[in-house]
Amino acid sequence: MERSPRQLVPGQSERGRDVHRVISHIGVRAMEISKRMKSIPPYIFAEIDKKRQAAVARGVDVINLGIGDPDQPTPKHVVDAMHKAIDNPANHKYPPFGGTKEYREAVAAWIKKRFGVTMDPATEVTSLIGSKEGLHNTIMAFIDEGDINLIPDPAYPVYKTSTILAGGEPYFMPLLEENNFLPDLDAIPADVCKKAKLIMVNYPNNPTAGVADLKFFEKLVAFAKKHDLLLCHDLSYSEMTYDGYKAPSIFEVEGAKDVAIELHTLSKTYNMTGWRIGFAIGNPVAIKALSSIKSNVDTDIFRAVQFAGIAAFEGPTDEIKRCNELYIERRDLAVKELKKLGWDFKPIRATFYMWLRTPEGMSSAEFAEIMLDKAGIVVPPGTAYGPGGEGFFRMGLCVDKDRMKEAFDRMAKHEITFDMKKKAKV
Ligand SMILES: *Cc1c(COP(=O)(O)O)cnc(C)c1O
Repeated sequence: MERSPRQLVPGQSERGRDVHRVISHIGVRAMEISKRMKSIPPYIFAEIDKKRQAAVARGVDVINLGIGDPDQPTPKHVVDAMHKAIDNPANHKYPPFGGTKEYREAVAAWIKKRFGVTMDPATEVTSLIGSKEGLHNTIMAFIDEGDINLIPDPAYPVYKTSTILAGGEPYFMPLLEENNFLPDLDAIPADVCKKAKLIMVNYPNNPTAGVADLKFFEKLVAFAKKHDLLLCHDLSYSEMTYDGYKAPSIFEVEGAKDVAIELHTLSKTYNMTGWRIGFAIGNPVAIKALSSIKSNVDTDIFRAVQFAGIAAFEGPTDEIKRCNELYIERRDLAVKELKKLGWDFKPIRATFYMWLRTPEGMSSAEFAEIMLDKAGIVVPPGTAYGPGGEGFFRMGLCVDKDRMKEAFDRMAKHEITFDMKKKAKV
């Protein structure tokens, strides 16, 4: 039987009582979650956080090296701009779709200054409530049932889960240490390229800390053109770079605007993870599709937060420099201390993650469990980022040096070393 919504209005009549039954019937059915929901696992970092909280509840002094959330505060001039903006009632209303004109113009000016590329603020820039949202909605705007999305493995989990939510099929491009954590585009089978609609990459990379140069980006743009793909570059860590390395934008490649969009966030650059603000730039057709899908499901960023964002773009960069120096100090401490525990690896040149091998013969899950149970240290298992993460774990640099030192001391005390498995066998 077809039921019009009007029939669901409860009334006093005999028919009204029937309608009540219909409502309760629907009520029960509505509790059955969608097949779409059942197709994805719980968000991995929410699960890891549950384990951390359980350990805290047991009284463990947990050191959380699992998070990717800057420990330093948002710069003062940004917070001050927010204070000022929040007092203005004009900012309390619904913001415009796609970001305010002022915000989009400030984005375009920042992009020009930082990368030397030109974006039209009217058609080639759109606001995002963080790049996590932007990744999801880009996938929603371009992936249909059965379409392939070429994604890195390991990767930030949203690439895979949103592809599945869209009814698409993720194809994993392995990021291997011997290839400097860049995907081997030539190894992707021709039939996969044919069914693919989208390719997603992220450099500087989470979780591997791999970096890309313009030569790789040129290859990527040519690949996207050849196979008619939208190329989506997640540039969340553009400013978190060290030792003279400067991260390029995909748009430094000539002609990239024909096929690419790039997602940026203020989360990591300006210690603004809680504020939820970012932006996408690039191909006007892709930007239009992204902002159009967004206008149907969200109503943009609080205007006052957009003014804070403008203050971040236009303000001094000394806070970025100070934070990077802090990450370098922590990195150097980690390199020194982990070396004593048997780990040998190249110091990272970007991001605040170290992608490290688990002790020989030990799975990622096994190692993450030992770290929490024995030493009270949270590290995500590599498999949290995809099957290619097996044999790795990620260690973040988001806690201060004393806490990091404490973590390495605990590892030493509990004999958590790179060769612990071998030793255990003897
Ligand atoms: C942190 C992170 C994001 C999400 O950032 P938000 O802007 O806070 O949503 C997206 N991609 C990668 C690779 C990240 O590490």
